[in-house]
Amino acid sequence: MQKIEGKTFNSHFEELEYLESLGFNVNPVRIECHNIKEIEKAILKIGEDREKLTFGIDGAVVKVDDLKFREILGATAKCPRWAIAYKYPPEKKETKLKDIICQVGRTGVITPMAILEPVKVAGSTISKTTLHNEDFIKEKGLMIGDIVEIQKAGDVIPEVVGVKKEKRTGNEIPFEMPKFCPVCGAEAVREEGEAAIRCTGIECPAKLLRNLIHFVSREAMNIEGLRRKYNKTIIR
Ligand SMILES: [Zn+2]
Repeated sequence: MQKIEGKTFNSHFEELEYLESLGFNVNPVRIECHNIKEIEKAILKIGEDREKLTFGIDGAVVKVDDLKFREILGATAKCPRWAIAYKYPPEKKETKLKDIICQVGRTGVITPMAILEPVKVAGSTISKTTLHNEDFIKEKGLMIGDIVEIQKAGDVIPEVVGVKKEKRTGNEIPFEMPKFCPVCGAEAVREEGEAAIRCTGIECPAKLLRNLIHFVSREAMNIEGLRRKYNKTIIR
């Protein structure tokens, strides 16, 4: 352990380079610019390269490098005047909708989930995402086996935004919501005016399990030591 004292810097770049030389993890994607044209170019370049990064980004930050100027510029009540974020449009990717499975929630709502050919979008690999309800699937005209377009903006949950109908081979299979709960076999009904289909089973294990998970959770009874162990297992 070594303590460094009295070291001063003129620019943010200098700071980052120094930290890097000490072995700290600093953002490797940084481009020094001298005018607005160079800034525009840098933003484009980062946007083009973002797929190759090992982490997801949804934007680039333009900062004043000279620390003296930073001090002069100061900050408003909310944010510094020497930094501004540029947001990229959400990243879109095509992948195959391999299957649609149904998950039963705490209140018995049966949610269709897309099982996707794993695809990297905005820094993370997506292999599963919600399809919300029957209407969403109908609206998009989704069929099992379709090539779909996935979008992920920032940290939000990935979404199926469209179907590439021109890429159909004729082997696609239409999807029907189940008439019975996939877990307990009780009748699944769609109430008038509701988008969701619910399991009517009183002792549905899926409902009981999800209720238990909710009951012990931080939002409810907050029972320490009793939690859902998060893993990739899908409760079907
Ligand atoms: Zn059920």
